[in-house]
Amino acid sequence: MAGLVEGLAAGLAALGREGLVRTRRVAEAREGATLGSESGRLVDFSSNDYLGLSTHPALAAAAHAAIDQVGTGAGASPLVSGHFRAHEEAEARFATFVGLPRALLFGSGYAANLGMLEALGGREAAIFGDRLNHACLVDGAILSRAAFTRLPHGDVGALASALERSAARVKIVATDAVFSMDGDVAPLRETLALCERHDAWLVIDDAHGIGVLGREGRGTLDHLGLASERIVYMATLGKALGGYGAFVAGHATVVEWLLQKARTYVFSTALPPACAAVATAAIGVLESPESPLRRLRGNIEHLAKRAREAGLALRPSPTAIHPLVVGEPQAAVDASQALERAGLRVPAIRPPTVPRGTSRLRLSISAAHAEADIDRLVRELAALRAVA
Ligand SMILES: *Cc1c(COP(=O)(O)O)cnc(C)c1O
Repeated sequence: MAGLVEGLAAGLAALGREGLVRTRRVAEAREGATLGSESGRLVDFSSNDYLGLSTHPALAAAAHAAIDQVGTGAGASPLVSGHFRAHEEAEARFATFVGLPRALLFGSGYAANLGMLEALGGREAAIFGDRLNHACLVDGAILSRAAFTRLPHGDVGALASALERSAARVKIVATDAVFSMDGDVAPLRETLALCERHDAWLVIDDAHGIGVLGREGRGTLDHLGLASERIVYMATLGKALGGYGAFVAGHATVVEWLLQKARTYVFSTALPPACAAVATAAIGVLESPESPLRRLRGNIEHLAKRAREAGLALRPSPTAIHPLVVGEPQAAVDASQALERAGLRVPAIRPPTVPRGTSRLRLSISAAHAEADIDRLVRELAALRAVA
């Protein structure tokens, strides 16, 4: 036993030498984009709560009402007795919102991608994924036992030749719609055309596009004007939609297959009904005249303008994610700590989340930021010679 623990301790020491140890901080309070903790108040540029919906009164009221009606936990998996009216309503509302025939609620985005890829894949399948795909698309591909090919980022030519060479009975192309650490949008139109030509499924993970891109925040399919029966679409509820959980949406037969077969759906307790009610309320806010989406888009434009004036190397992106690549992990950590001393929470993103040599600061913009917050951020970044 001592030897086993020593092995882990040596592994942790190695992480320390490489500047890769991560720590949590305890958040005690939240007001708009400001987090209160032991070390004081910080303006948060690290959250995926892009619309500030996690503190929206309509979402909180929906959660309270659902808890008063049916309690806190679903109590069972959906196919046993855990599927409540709130789940049924949220699925229908979400399918309509994203323009797909049917949707299924999963416990989380991670669970959705694992269950979906495993259910669609199998030993006779081949899965093709972008090298920068989120960890759960990678893990889902491995779990599915399909032949798994990781392709260079955004390389449609490489995907074309991989599909050309494959003799698999079932082909699946899986990609993030918006890459979570880079904020670039995948070449989905070209990817869909290749899937049509090679009769492949196209699995799209829109964790960072839902609520942000498209009319009223309907997501990346709406943003690019894409529709196809071969699209299997996943979006999370824990980011711009301000709650927790995830949906998979697509052709009604695909969704029925997942309901019967996806192991993370069948063998897992249903999402708390309050989370489903929060999802429905979030879509209601997005479709209302009071949607915070316009404010988010104004803030993204404001960041681009101020960064240009300050000479910061930010790539233009219509999304809320704006990376500043620094290089080595320690330099990213030093910059993040300097910003924290100035009252700003900006995370250093390091391997294994991003490839070696591309450690970065990841700026997440929210509708909850004031323009003055963004001005302050740009001023402090410009003051850090290491990244300016
Ligand atoms: C956050 C994220 C997930 C996981 O979703 P959870 O609901 O947090 O489990 C999946 N894919 C991408 C691209 C993500 O950013």
